[in-house]
Amino acid sequence: MEAVSNSFDVVVVGAGPAGGHCARKLSQLGHRVLLIERYKNFNVNSFSSSGTPNETLTKYQIPESVVGSFWNEISIVTSNQTGKWRSPQIQGSVLDFAKLRSFLADETIAHGSEVWLNCLYISHKTVACEKGDRSGDRTIVQVRRDRTDVVIEARLLVDATGPNRSLMYANPKDQPELITGTGVEFLIEVDEAAYDRSANALTFFLGYKWMPKGYSWIFPMENRRLKVGAGIVNLPHEFVKEMQPLKHYIQLIIDQHIKPTDYSIVERHGGTVRYSLGLKDKYVDGSVIAVGDAVSTINFLGGEGIRHAMESSEISVKYIDRYLKGTGQNFDGYQQEMHQVFLKSWTRSEKLGLKKYLADSDRLVDRVVNYLRPLTLEDVVDILFYYKFEKASKGLVSYLWRKLRSVLGKVLRQSDRIFRL
Ligand SMILES: Cc1cc2nc3c(=O)[nH]c(=O)nc-3n(C[C@H](O)[C@H](O)[C@H](O)COP(=O)(O)OP(=O)(O)OC[C@H]3O[C@@H](n4cnc5c(N)ncnc54)[C@H](O)[C@@H]3O)c2cc1C
Repeated sequence: MEAVSNSFDVVVVGAGPAGGHCARKLSQLGHRVLLIERYKNFNVNSFSSSGTPNETLTKYQIPESVVGSFWNEISIVTSNQTGKWRSPQIQGSVLDFAKLRSFLADETIAHGSEVWLNCLYISHKTVACEKGDRSGDRTIVQVRRDRTDVVIEARLLVDATGPNRSLMYANPKDQPELITGTGVEFLIEVDEAAYDRSANALTFFLGYKWMPKGYSWIFPMENRRLKVGAGIVNLPHEFVKEMQPLKHYIQLIIDQHIKPTDYSIVERHGGTVRYSLGLKDKYVDGSVIAVGDAVSTINFLGGEGIRHAMESSEISVKYIDRYLKGTGQNFDGYQQEMHQVFLKSWTRSEKLGLKKYLADSDRLVDRVVNYLRPLTLEDVVDILFYYKFEKASKGLVSYLWRKLRSVLGKVLRQSDRIFRL
């Protein structure tokens, strides 16, 4: 191995929302951090639709300069139903994913740390410290920067490589069983009238017509641009046996829902998520601590992952900071704290997601819109983004009550007719 060229407190591998936020926070705390990313710039893999509620900007201090547009409406379109929920208040935003990650990297540099783009993590090994050396074990990391092999040294490593989990599992065969989901998205530019019909709203498409085994979407960006995407869970459906390629469902939305008089495709991108049911990922391994999608922080039901990836970084930073300052010896509490935050609602989301995407009949999917119809947008946001599924039962009760009233109405009208005869 070559000589060590550089030494850091922490090397964070992967400059997604988890790695970028983790590096930013650690640098703010005065630690010497290196953030590495395999791609040469953030436009290359701008795969995420990046729809998110208000909390992302406020809780994680994200500026409006990375926002593509704001939304105050949700629409759900199924094979035979459409529901719309609107509020005078802004409920969230659609971020520019490239700008978000670029902002986090810039902040890391502004706080005195380094960011290396076009830098691929290759391997690491930990070297035990010599007797009497109080600085602790060192980890030697091999990376390939601009096609040149470089060896660096760090006290800790962060695996923020998302679905790859590259540091935690040198051999992918050692990974826990992972469910995969695939998403493809077109960024299109449309005429003004077509844009206005989808502006300010997150529109979701469910059901066999639009997207069996998952859901599709339209998220608005600025300058008459719309993100139109489709995502599936890569498991068999109980009833739907044949699927079209994902781009078929995107085209369907463009042709039958957006109906632009004119449009152009600005960009095509996509990605695969890998998720461990029951959160069975490895969180800590020696000097490596994992954050974000590397420990399945993406929510299985909604596919929302940016906010949760950043939350995992906030949690990990507490442990890393204590360790580096010598006030904490290990990361024993990290997995437990992560499970406290995520496990319960993630397990419920898994059950609902598996049923909704892979086992429900098309009629049952239609009914969801009817259940939700009497709710406010704030209620729907609570269900979709804060996993307060009990709020859906409020809608279900109201739906059953409306059904009962209509049946009773019919019976009363009929008996009235009979008595009059
Ligand atoms: C199609 C699609 C649409 C989505 N839409 C939304 C949405 O609307 N809202 C939302 O909140 N979430 C959405 N998500 C999920 C969200 O984007 C992810 O949950 C989030 O990006 C996870 O962040 P992360 O930092 O953990 O991982 P990632 O964003 O995957 O970042 C990992 C980084 O590590 C880098 N890397 C990997 N291996 C190496 C290596 N060996 N060396 C160096 N670098 C490496 C990768 O290049 C990458 O940049 C979507 C996901 C997909 C696939």
